[in-house]
Amino acid sequence: MSIGCGDERIDSGAVASVDLDAVAHNVRELQQFAGDAAVMAVVKADGYNHGGVEVARAAIAAGAHELGVTTIGEALELRAAGITVPMLAWLHRTDSDFAAAIDEQVGIAVSTAGQLDAVVEAARRVGRTADLSLKIDTGLNRNGVAEADLDAVLDATAAAVASGSVRLTGMFSHLACADEPEHPANDAQAERLRDAVGRAARRGTPPGVVHLSNSAATLTRPDLGFDMVRPGIALYGMSPIPDLGTFGLRPVMTLSAQVANIKKVSEGESVSYGYTWTAPADTVVALIALGYADGVVRRLGGRFEVTIAGRRYPSVGRVCMDQFVVDLGGDSSGVAVGDEALLFGPGDRGEANAQDWADALETISYEVVTGIRGRVRRRFVGARSGEAAH
Ligand SMILES: *Cc1c(COP(=O)(O)O)cnc(C)c1O
Repeated sequence: MSIGCGDERIDSGAVASVDLDAVAHNVRELQQFAGDAAVMAVVKADGYNHGGVEVARAAIAAGAHELGVTTIGEALELRAAGITVPMLAWLHRTDSDFAAAIDEQVGIAVSTAGQLDAVVEAARRVGRTADLSLKIDTGLNRNGVAEADLDAVLDATAAAVASGSVRLTGMFSHLACADEPEHPANDAQAERLRDAVGRAARRGTPPGVVHLSNSAATLTRPDLGFDMVRPGIALYGMSPIPDLGTFGLRPVMTLSAQVANIKKVSEGESVSYGYTWTAPADTVVALIALGYADGVVRRLGGRFEVTIAGRRYPSVGRVCMDQFVVDLGGDSSGVAVGDEALLFGPGDRGEANAQDWADALETISYEVVTGIRGRVRRRFVGARSGEAAH
């Protein structure tokens, strides 16, 4: 069960609050960096686990022109929620429903001649022109049309355009090393994309919109903006290149949980499974009702801090499936059962940032925010949430 279920019977009091005003702020910030290029808000994976529909609405209201998702199913969910802006889906199953995508005017990005054939066939069946984008592999060597297949795919695209089955609405690629702005691969990939655009144009089928940049490139390589940029993580307020700072972005997700119990632990007594932490002196500990089943990964034990009533307290001992313990130390007078413990957020109330967790885990913030799950309830705040911001 994913977060956002809203089922109070199973939740633990833990909340992932999603600040839609912060989304709007981040979109405006990204638009500044993007200059004349349009912003496609990437809301795949349920909006990086923030709630795809709500984030999409907030992003569009703040000026995003298009939405990017991975699967056609994700795009159809956004359409079902009444969202009408252009959308692009770029990773397909062998049985993806291209006809449904065409019916709902979802842009389809293809990476192979076989997918192109399937889109053309579906367009004929539906009796509508498909909005086609070509995803070009310019060096990531993952998805995208391989150089060896490109001429054949461009020929087939030109034929499909001539027959009225498709419009070539876009051509794009994805960077391998955008988080290293000066990496030579970035320029090499941009050059290959320009070359592919030229080859399409020479066939009489110039692509409508050309795009390359993810968040990192949007923020550091304005020269690679083309017609549109495709930021994801920056929309959610996390820096794609933490070493270069926050770029004025505001973290969108705040994770909090309840203090479920408070108790004294005497010097020399140990806490939680395996007794990995022993109290160096008489102390008081608080139990927080959130665990690795909810995305507080076990490897974090002893490596993160929570904020209760404005003060930071360190995690001690092992993180369990449903709970973990923090050391309140000598003066625990400010903490009571039922208090809100902040695990990460924008930092306004002294709390850690999801990036701190990423650093502790030697991973990236993407994995932290998309990893929150289990019994955490999602709550939207901000002017557009229909709920007053707290
Ligand atoms: C996920 C994704 C993005 C967004 O990447 P960020 O690093 O989150 O900005 C852009 N383009 C494609 C093709 C993607 O898959």
